[in-house]
Amino acid sequence: MIEMSAKEAENAAEIIEDIIAVSNLKAVDGTRSGIVKLPQGDAGRLKLAASLCRKVAVGKYKQVVHGEWLNFYNDFSTAECDKCGELYEVSPDEKPSREYFNAFKQFYKFCPSCGAKMDGKEKTDVKR
Ligand SMILES: [Zn+2]
Repeated sequence: MIEMSAKEAENAAEIIEDIIAVSNLKAVDGTRSGIVKLPQGDAGRLKLAASLCRKVAVGKYKQVVHGEWLNFYNDFSTAECDKCGELYEVSPDEKPSREYFNAFKQFYKFCPSCGAKMDGKEKTDVKR
């Protein structure tokens, strides 16, 4: 996975802000410059994109860590977080089964130990 550095986020914000600024330029005769013509909605979305990049640049967003529940003993009794290695008993009062294991995965969308988002591997790793 590629991470966006603070500097890259700042550069992205500047590029977007430049596009917004250019689109607002008026030619000498008062008509719009025509360099970039932005409909109102697009201009609003670009401003939002620029502000999000600014927030990334100053560290307001932390990176989401994606994890996956592993079938630790291969018998559906124990789920292991593949990020922090914490083990959880899946169905303490019932005979372990795939159904309980899947129910556990449905219920624990985040690892209670490390906070990883348990939605599987990075989507960019998926082979087509
Ligand atoms: Zn974890």
